[in-house]
Amino acid sequence: MSSIKNVLSDIVGQDYVSNNPEEVYLYSRDPGLMPAHKPDYVVMPQSAQEIQEIVRVADREKISIVPMGAGLALTGLVIPQKGGIVVDMKRMNKILDVNERARYVLVEGGTSQGLLKAYLEKNYPRLRHSLPDAPPTATIAANVMIHGQGRLAQQYGFNSDMISGLEVVLPSGEICKIGSCSISPDWFSKGPPLPDLSGLFLGWFGATGIITRLALKLYPRKKLRDVEIFITDRENLVPDIVYEITHTEMAEDILVFTQPLPMMFKDNHHVSFYITGDTDEELEFKRKMIWDALHGFIKSKDGGFMSIPPAMRPTLLEMPQKSASRLADVKRGGGFEYSGPIIVVERYPECWRKLVELAVKYDLAYSGMVRIIGRGHCMMFGFAFTFNRADPDMMERVRNALKEVSEFALETGGVFWKPTVEEQKMAFKKMDTNTMQLMKTIKNTLDPNGIMNPGNWEVN
Ligand SMILES: Cc1cc2nc3c(=O)[nH]c(=O)nc-3n(C[C@H](O)[C@H](O)[C@H](O)COP(=O)(O)OP(=O)(O)OC[C@H]3O[C@@H](n4cnc5c(N)ncnc54)[C@H](O)[C@@H]3O)c2cc1C
Repeated sequence: MSSIKNVLSDIVGQDYVSNNPEEVYLYSRDPGLMPAHKPDYVVMPQSAQEIQEIVRVADREKISIVPMGAGLALTGLVIPQKGGIVVDMKRMNKILDVNERARYVLVEGGTSQGLLKAYLEKNYPRLRHSLPDAPPTATIAANVMIHGQGRLAQQYGFNSDMISGLEVVLPSGEICKIGSCSISPDWFSKGPPLPDLSGLFLGWFGATGIITRLALKLYPRKKLRDVEIFITDRENLVPDIVYEITHTEMAEDILVFTQPLPMMFKDNHHVSFYITGDTDEELEFKRKMIWDALHGFIKSKDGGFMSIPPAMRPTLLEMPQKSASRLADVKRGGGFEYSGPIIVVERYPECWRKLVELAVKYDLAYSGMVRIIGRGHCMMFGFAFTFNRADPDMMERVRNALKEVSEFALETGGVFWKPTVEEQKMAFKKMDTNTMQLMKTIKNTLDPNGIMNPGNWEVN
């Protein structure tokens, strides 16, 4: 044990490696509900070269490696199932380059969402990225690794669709460049017109390599931004409402939220959409287009616009949104966890009914948080339940409710987002056999010793 620690100290410096019980304790869990498991060591490298050396040592000694950003995915993806080394990426947080005209940014693999947001606002006020509503310490690389979604999802899809190049340390220790950057000095595409190899890494939870640099597409930031909320108490109409709004191509982002409190929100579906513009006229034009598109629902008295109290507007416009953590009352020891299957928007009514059914069955506070992805191509339906960490019975009820969500999601045609290890196994059971075999071939070829984030996407 001590010799491995010495080897790791030689690579990253002794201040950046630890096997102290109180430090490995912190890396044995995430803020969600999954059981903890301690790593043997934690390291904080500062360069791709250091990561190469760590990976080579791990491969030689057959020690597991788990890359970690902020550890906020909540589903246990950074909990080292088999111990080994947690590679905390936080020291690799440099913003390396912005190509303003080609609208992309090149960052290191541990750069946080908050850092990039602040940097762009200060230095490139006409550019923005698709910010998720995760806490600002969440990292960009981990977010695309789990196919996260942010504020521009409705227009441009998953955040991983907005990648325009990767640099990855493979389990063998080699550094590999993916996309235009493999040929050109410019990081403008993650694949096309070359074969798109980014799929060998994105969505694999670090089980096929560690991202050390990535380029992310940036988009125009308009001067003005506003929000509107359309309410209906008929869940069956939500897919139609979303269809009409997406048809206008005027919204920046579309979210649907539903929660039982305050009482006036109960059993209502709040379709909130965001619009942006450089002038009041542009904003007004977009607002009018969407209002006109929803006129039929108002006429038939199936819904209407909510007048947003002035005090509520800044909260709705904040980025990232803090509503989920507020709901959980984190400061007083509360937690929340959500299962967020990706599923077609037509299934909204079934999802909502299931959410309410489970909340009643397990006596839990709930909220439904939906983000529309693409022009209504699919949605992330977040089944969120809050719990009190001091109440083991309540935590068990949340676990059981989420287990039922997983079964329901698969039955209803959904695909798990950032699945737990258990959900990954459930997905394999349902997956086309040849697809599963292809995944097995990829994993075994890239990581023959199975050292990278073991337990994840492991086909037996
Ligand atoms: C209140 C709240 C709101 C949220 N809202 C959103 C939201 O709107 N949209 C959204 O997408 N998510 C959301 N999330 C989920 C999650 O926090 C984010 O997706 C976040 O970006 C994950 O980043 P992380 O750095 O915490 O990932 P981690 O949990 O550290 O890692 C996630 C996965 O990526 C792997 N990984 C980490 N770094 C690397 C690397 N450099 N190379 C290879 N693999 C790596 C890890 O091993 C793990 O498998 C939310 C979470 C919370 C708590």
